[in-house]
Amino acid sequence: MSTPPEMLYPEMLYPELLAPFDMHAIMRDGRRLDHAEAASKPLRSRPEPQPRGAKGHGKRPIDQAEAAARFIAAPEHEKMHDERLWDLRQKRDREMHGITEWEELRSLASAIKEHTLTHLDEYLEQFEANAVANGVHVHWAKDAAEHNRVVQGILSDHGAKSLIKSKSMLTEECGFRPYMASVGIEVIETDLGERIQQLDNEDPSHVVVPAVHKLRTDVAEVFARTIGTDPANNDVHYLAEAQREATRPLILAADAGMTGCNFAVAETGTFVVCTNEGNADLSANVPKLHIASIGIEKIIPRLEHLAVFVRLLSRSALGSPVTQYTSHFRGPREGGEMHIVLVDNGRSERLGMEEFWTSLKCIRCGACMNTCPVYRRSGGLSYGATYSGPIGLIIDPTFNERKFSNLPFTSTLNGSCSNVCPVKINIHEQIYAWRRVLVARHETPLAKRVEMKAAGELLSRPAAYRAAIAAADVALAHLPRFVIYNGLNAWGRHREMPHPPKQTFHSWYQANRGEKQ
Ligand code: SF4
Repeated sequence: MSTPPEMLYPEMLYPELLAPFDMHAIMRDGRRLDHAEAASKPLRSRPEPQPRGAKGHGKRPIDQAEAAARFIAAPEHEKMHDERLWDLRQKRDREMHGITEWEELRSLASAIKEHTLTHLDEYLEQFEANAVANGVHVHWAKDAAEHNRVVQGILSDHGAKSLIKSKSMLTEECGFRPYMASVGIEVIETDLGERIQQLDNEDPSHVVVPAVHKLRTDVAEVFARTIGTDPANNDVHYLAEAQREATRPLILAADAGMTGCNFAVAETGTFVVCTNEGNADLSANVPKLHIASIGIEKIIPRLEHLAVFVRLLSRSALGSPVTQYTSHFRGPREGGEMHIVLVDNGRSERLGMEEFWTSLKCIRCGACMNTCPVYRRSGGLSYGATYSGPIGLIIDPTFNERKFSNLPFTSTLNGSCSNVCPVKINIHEQIYAWRRVLVARHETPLAKRVEMKAAGELLSRPAAYRAAIAAADVALAHLPRFVIYNGLNAWGRHREMPHPPKQTFHSWYQANRGEKQ
């Protein structure tokens, strides 16, 4: 008779999930790593390599088109990415249709955010006073460097050498992990997707699903390289369990924990973190020292406002009614210590930008990314910035206008992003506004400026425009391919030029308007 699994693995949380005996099971340190369906499965001999993100060239503008072209050239990745994100968009739509007051919720959320942002000083002070009254130490950081120094100071006061951390875009924005590595403090990400990205030395490619651009084969390769899993096994249960086995001891031994924040409530001095893995609770509750990094735009006035945002957030992000964990943090655990770092890092300045201040309403749901045809087909890392997709096109230039000057041009301006945004940010209008600002400040390449000027001249002269269209139609119909499809025709590099119609709308209108009148 075989030994029951719970006797073989008494420390396992769910021994009933163990698969029956498998002679191919992966063993490490005398213990089996695989669960349930985790038998080794052969891979295709040569999986498609993962396309990497944008290449940085010092202060030169990020070339998103170049990185996007490499992503498009990896068809398995492009197809998977496009389908996975469109699936999230469709799930979001289904959830939205299930709530009759959806549009009222969006308007309410937008109004709450706009009210808070226009009274931010008052609510921040109220939040600080209430958090202090709850026994929390509150710090202020004007920029990324100060944030990192403050956290380092807290850790060194406690002699902490290792930190477990749940996913936080703010800490990505602050370059927190590289900074901590430079001062000898080990940071361990507790979110599975973020941990995958950390092990692969890559930034998150999406604000909600950081490793969404990776195929299972990519994750298998990363884990084989970093935690010693079987490179030939890309079974998701096996990979997830292997990561749990590798990371859990680090979590249990960590000196300090760190979380971000989704919403900070001024009237109570409390804050909320939403996760689907419960990893914020691990980061906050396992070590005695909890540090929370909070962007100053995360404030909402009252607890009752939270319900509006919680109803919108997960539905917009993943198309699920609620996140698995909506964790409220009020004060330090018994015998522990809690610190909050309130971070500005350019937010006050953005608040003063007439055309862009409402981008501070963003609740980082990622819905605008999931719906964006450019993002879905080029991958988040092609933007070479902390924030990618439509919201990134607005936020990134506020950090570095020159470096991110190409990004506002990577949009079709179709408006889908604004339509799905749960806090009603006019995203596509702000992207367009950035184009105007960048052109006015000469932050666009000379060739683009010349092209746009020529296009402007042509479009403002109807007779010249019609003559050019007629000439282009003839050229497309008769010129040899190499004249049309060459290096100068960026459009034609990835697609065929459309067949010209037999008759333009203008000539049709002229021929028929007599009948219409
Ligand atoms: S801009 Fe709107 S849709 Fe995009 S991440 Fe922010 S809240 Fe979500």
